[in-house]
Amino acid sequence: MTLTEMREILKARDLQLTKSLGQNFLHDANQLRRIVAAAELSATDKVLEIGPGLGPLTELLLASGATVLAIEKDSRLTTFLREHFAKQSNLTLLHDDALDFLQRRAGDVQSPMDVPIPEDGDGKSPAAARWKLVANLPYSVASPILVELALHPHGPERMVVTLQLEVAQRIVAASDTDSYGLLTLLIGLHYRPGALFKIPASCFFPAPDVESACLTLTRRDPPPLDDRQTKLFVRLVKRAFSQRRKMMLKLLKTEWPEEKLHACFAKLAISPQERAEKVSLEVFTELCRLMAE
Ligand code: SAM
Repeated sequence: MTLTEMREILKARDLQLTKSLGQNFLHDANQLRRIVAAAELSATDKVLEIGPGLGPLTELLLASGATVLAIEKDSRLTTFLREHFAKQSNLTLLHDDALDFLQRRAGDVQSPMDVPIPEDGDGKSPAAARWKLVANLPYSVASPILVELALHPHGPERMVVTLQLEVAQRIVAASDTDSYGLLTLLIGLHYRPGALFKIPASCFFPAPDVESACLTLTRRDPPPLDDRQTKLFVRLVKRAFSQRRKMMLKLLKTEWPEEKLHACFAKLAISPQERAEKVSLEVFTELCRLMAE
């Protein structure tokens, strides 16, 4: 879909774009192709797209043969998309708030996409569902959407997302840097950040006032922590970062026994004076394993 086509659709339908919904549409064919290439799609893939807008990315996702579920909050756009993609049998379109949709399904045993989950060899525990997220996310809700998906027991095997550059930098940040924090840890626990490429503002219509980047996240396999330990990890890092400049031990002892904390800190050679921002993802993960024992 070219910029001219986008302008024509908007004009013909008298559609005024809504800034609060992050309606900056990507019209650059090269960038769209790069995003889809990063997703490494095959015809057997199931893809969730959040915020299809006028469908420039949807078009390429469908062309890969993958099955696509697209969730769009703006009913004027879902009306357009239903007409535009009327002949596509591999597309399901939902008019919904994607964050609400995911939160409603947070406790599901199945993936948020309702992909049937195959059983493991022993016939008991369900294996992770194989599906992907590919989306140019609405920037204002990108972080909570990614955290929701990253912590879901059946989260996608890969996420290829366009985000505000500053948010992407927080996700890939190393410990002891300004960008490192809760977002790095809540997403990094189960996802390994990969390639990141910047997308110039001129590739969007209208051009956003912030910088953008596309980031690939791949699910860690096997998961570093099980579901119970993951819940503890979330509580632990939230408490540890509740006051960034305070000593982590002081913050944690408001919720966990001080003796146990001292013993775990000693085992991992963490100084009792350490602040959370100096502690790496690996050390937080290990601390959580010890605390869960
Ligand atoms: N994918 C399109 C593209 O690349 O041109 C549009 C991307 S635009 C950055 C974000 C889209 O997300 C808009 O179409 C907007 O209406 C939609 N949106 C905003 N908030 C949403 C939400 N909470 N749930 C679902 N869609 C949302």
